[in-house]
Amino acid sequence: MAKFEIRHKDLMGRIAKLQTPHGPIETPAIMPVINPNLISIGADEMKKNGAEMLITNAYIIYRKAELREEAAKRSVHSLLGSELPIMTDSGSYQLYEYGDVGVSNREILEFQQRIGSDISVPLDIPTPPYAKRAIAERDLEITLRRMEEARAIIKIKTNEDDKNKSKNNPLLTGVVQGSTFVDLRAESAKRLASIGFDLYAIGGVVPLLESYRFDKLVDIIVASKLNLPCDAPVHLFGAGHPIIFPLAVALGCDLFDSAAYLLYAKGKRYMTSDGTRKLQDLQYLPCSCPVCSSYTVNELKTEEGVNLLAAHNLWVSFEEMRTVKQSIVERNLWELCERRCRAYPALLTGLMQMARYSALIEKYDPATKHPFLYLGPSSTYRPEVLRYANRLSRFTLSGNVLITTMTERDRDRDRDRDREPKEESVIESKDKEEKEEFQHVFFVKPPFGPCPVELEETYPVGQAELPAEIDSDAKTVALQNVLKLLESNHKKADFVFQYDHSWKDHLLLLIEEIGKYAEVRKTE
Ligand SMILES: [Zn+2]
Repeated sequence: MAKFEIRHKDLMGRIAKLQTPHGPIETPAIMPVINPNLISIGADEMKKNGAEMLITNAYIIYRKAELREEAAKRSVHSLLGSELPIMTDSGSYQLYEYGDVGVSNREILEFQQRIGSDISVPLDIPTPPYAKRAIAERDLEITLRRMEEARAIIKIKTNEDDKNKSKNNPLLTGVVQGSTFVDLRAESAKRLASIGFDLYAIGGVVPLLESYRFDKLVDIIVASKLNLPCDAPVHLFGAGHPIIFPLAVALGCDLFDSAAYLLYAKGKRYMTSDGTRKLQDLQYLPCSCPVCSSYTVNELKTEEGVNLLAAHNLWVSFEEMRTVKQSIVERNLWELCERRCRAYPALLTGLMQMARYSALIEKYDPATKHPFLYLGPSSTYRPEVLRYANRLSRFTLSGNVLITTMTERDRDRDRDRDREPKEESVIESKDKEEKEEFQHVFFVKPPFGPCPVELEETYPVGQAELPAEIDSDAKTVALQNVLKLLESNHKKADFVFQYDHSWKDHLLLLIEEIGKYAEVRKTE
């Protein structure tokens, strides 16, 4: 397996160093696609924009005699005029588009080796989303046979075989297919892992990206990732728009290829980190990249403007990936996903789908971060909340226990107010509370639920910043977690649950449930 050193982690995302024959690159990384027939932005320019690695299509080179000869004689690096690491694709996309490519798996793999590709890809069969199951199964079997064949052609060189050169071994990709059937994706990933590849790619997802089916994309990534070795890099084939980077990286994708920067430019579409604008609709350029700070909208609209627009599109793609990486370092990638996924309802659907896998993500997620910013109902389903809920059963309680929705500050304020003259009944009730001795006091903080006052300042509960008005998702989960604490300590302690008027009527069913284990008191 290729050397892949993970340096920082957040959620399932990671920053890592991947060793290639042409030197190391840092992931997550975007590989701009260069079409050797039609180089619009040269490799040098790509490097200046932030590219550490490029991708080109071995099949396009193979098909054209002059390119084939040049690449075979010198190398693919010489053909593209770059010493950056280069990944080569096999022509699967053309197979998907045109049905037949007239080249065998063996031929295209041996060609990739001959031209000095750093990362080769076998000729897999991309099955479109929502294909009939029988077709998806048939395609997958062919793909897996080709993957086995590829591994036999490009053998794993152990350190024994190649002691000093092991870091120069070209890498081989295993491609996960299976259409939109998550069980087929899982099976595909499992079988690839047992064959053993240097990196893995998730293929056949471009139509899902184009139709904004981000929820389905999340399912496919998760089903694949769960069955691939966690210490191997994963490439999400065809995902080149920056809007998908935060979510895909959060789910553990490390490599991205972008043909989109140029395709969008040709269609006069201007990329931003929260979507795409038509050039014709723009009066201003909302970006300060070298292109946008030197040219006007009208200049971008001209024929010569296509390459400028492509350069801008690349710029924002790299910028967004840097933002994602900084988020991993700061361990606030979930919050970045929340902010970005509010750009489109379909992205929000993708985010909520990711939230459904919180229990899984929690296993990968670092335990300590700070602070915890609550940015809406999706924050309720963050892995940290789930982890907190799972740990509630660790509390062993006895004696009298108060669980209150009032914060310490509310309680102090109430005590001050009580010093003023009060009606008889209020004084009586307060007296009653003061006479009671509580061995433990928990305050209820949405979305976490009960937290002992002693841990009021500690992460995550103590460092969670909430808006003044919190939504009912957060309160519901908080009360469910109160129930968890009560259930696990039932009959060991005597509980009083105290809540205030802000816990609205629609939560009453849960409060009723709490009433089975605790004496419930409503405060004014
Ligand atoms: Zn720009």
